[in-house]
Amino acid sequence: MAKRRRLVVGNWKMYGRLTSGLVLARELADKIAAKKPLNFDIAVCPPATLTWPVSEAIMGSPLLLGAQDCHHATHGAYTGDVSAAMFADLGCRYVILGHSERRLAHQETNELISKKVAAAQLAGLTTIVCVGETEEQRTSAKTVEVIEQQLRASLPEKNQIAQLVVAYEPVWAIGSGQQPEIKDIESVHQTIRKALGAAGEAVQVIYGGSVTPQNAGSILENQEVDGVLVGSASINGDGFWAIAEKCR
Ligand code: PEP
Repeated sequence: MAKRRRLVVGNWKMYGRLTSGLVLARELADKIAAKKPLNFDIAVCPPATLTWPVSEAIMGSPLLLGAQDCHHATHGAYTGDVSAAMFADLGCRYVILGHSERRLAHQETNELISKKVAAAQLAGLTTIVCVGETEEQRTSAKTVEVIEQQLRASLPEKNQIAQLVVAYEPVWAIGSGQQPEIKDIESVHQTIRKALGAAGEAVQVIYGGSVTPQNAGSILENQEVDGVLVGSASINGDGFWAIAEKCR
């Protein structure tokens, strides 16, 4: 089995205006241009409003683009929503789906997420499907059960394995400065890979939750970790690049 390529994804969440977003995207594109060979994939997922300006700004650069969510329909009377095809149209390669902030704040269920995954894959996007346990589930030793259940129920029947990335994001580690021990990340990643079956060998399983330039090295050193999904630390160009450069 060939070694899986590492993937570093920046989730800008609801941060950034036109000027600051463009400055950040160009800064990253410049850093990437100077890194030869680039032995990992790197993507940014700006807020929907910045998708097109960032896409234009990084055109021709190996810096890849993603969206933070999409609707499950291709089009229709869905005020305020954006479809996967619309994001694909703007140059997106990825879409993050099932992020815990959407599961919690927008009451997104596994069933809805699976419909979004199907729509996004149909539109040609690679889906970064997030799964993760809450603090309470962790302390009551339910992590494995929760992850297996979320993964099974968040993937559509006709899931395209070649368009799937799984992000293990413990809810309690997001934006909290806390993170699991490396052995626990390793064990959950093994659980995810096992749950995906034989075809899962090729799927990138990445970790997210308070990744910083300080802790990224030890996380990315682990052979079960195929990359990182970075929130807060991704809106600082130097910091995000320092994390990405830990990919070996
Ligand atoms: C995230 O938003 O996916 C995330 C991991 O956030 P943070 O890095 O801020 O914990």
